[in-house]
Amino acid sequence: MADSATVEPAGSESNPFVQAQMRLDKAAELINLDPGIKRILSTPYQELTVSVPVKMDDGSVRVFTGYRVQHSVARGPGKGGIRYSPEVHLDEVRALAAWMTWKCAVVDVPFGGAKGGIICDPRRMSQGELERLTRRYTANLIDIIGPERDVPAPDMNTGEQTMAWLMDTYSMHTRATTTSIVTGKPVGLGGSKGRREATGLGVAFTVRESLKHLGMPATGCRVVVQGSGNVGGLGALFLHEMGHKVIAISDMYGAIHNDAGLDMPEVLRWLREERTLEGFPGAERLDNAQLLTLDCDVLVPAATEDQITSRNAAEIKAKVIVEGANGPTSAAADVILEQRGVFVAPDILANAGGVTVSYFEWVQNRMGYFWEEQVVFDRMERIMVDSFHSVVEAAEKYQTSPRIGAYCVAIERVAYCLNLRGIYA
Ligand code: GLU
Repeated sequence: MADSATVEPAGSESNPFVQAQMRLDKAAELINLDPGIKRILSTPYQELTVSVPVKMDDGSVRVFTGYRVQHSVARGPGKGGIRYSPEVHLDEVRALAAWMTWKCAVVDVPFGGAKGGIICDPRRMSQGELERLTRRYTANLIDIIGPERDVPAPDMNTGEQTMAWLMDTYSMHTRATTTSIVTGKPVGLGGSKGRREATGLGVAFTVRESLKHLGMPATGCRVVVQGSGNVGGLGALFLHEMGHKVIAISDMYGAIHNDAGLDMPEVLRWLREERTLEGFPGAERLDNAQLLTLDCDVLVPAATEDQITSRNAAEIKAKVIVEGANGPTSAAADVILEQRGVFVAPDILANAGGVTVSYFEWVQNRMGYFWEEQVVFDRMERIMVDSFHSVVEAAEKYQTSPRIGAYCVAIERVAYCLNLRGIYA
């Protein structure tokens, strides 16, 4: 059961912005953050809500709502993905933007934090409709985005093609091909080698470092992964290649489980062909709730926010949680997991491999010189390992969890820049 420290205002556990703010409050207290700086960091720097009219294939016109929130530009241009989902809402985008600020600061890349979203159901839209939606949304954002202002990237339900349309639309407006306006582009159109694999590989590196830190075996651990997209699917594949046993993995329809370990290359091939994990031979079906509470060594939530909460945290059996998704664990669940001795490698560290390689992509675009894949992976690995150590050192220094340790590292770095830049008045 949750103790009194975990009681939150009703409804707040599912509000990601409240969750982000609770972690900021806790870390701010530990590092003795100046109250004025805290006030600045509690408030998004700039928010834009746009109406996006789209001519649908049947001739009708629909108007979608889109957002772009820039949480901070103290350390550099805003940076962060754009998601397309019926569940998008402003407080979610605000939280995701703040998490990008902290994430970029944890891995020490010179970006602030931003995020975008459009309320839509991309599975019910044609390619043409998605293209028109993306182009008009980009045009509506034209005054606030740019290689030195705010650099979008893919997120849930957006990908390389979305980024190519965004880059083209921006370039048509500026009358110059501007690849550095966006990251996560296709390789061959200014994308970086290794960007597609980067988040999943970074998650796998974080699992490796967590196990080493805890003195657990480097191979043969039983791993459960929630989500089988770019983060969960590839993360599971890299963990399988590192010699761990992925015993269960899920997609949006449910999970598959085999205690002897799943053949991950086969699972991903099945998923590509069938577009669902359902029916994968030799595995039993589980629902999402059963997946999260399976007996395992490592749990990788790599789907969406608000998955591990005060409702199921006491039931989690994993010894290590490595957060591939943004915000999968609530602040109330943090307390329960900490009391139970579960090691949580937080999202703003664990999934930062993606934005790290986005930074490399932006650098390569501005240099006009492209790096070999191995160079990308080696540089990303070094950053992830160094960041892991900074986070656990901060957790030890402040006698707190790795999550709050990561916030302490990030907030100190952002506050340093805010102090030096001062307030323009
Ligand atoms: N959407 C990804 C994230 O949440 C990537 C952001 C980026 O590369 O800018 O980290």
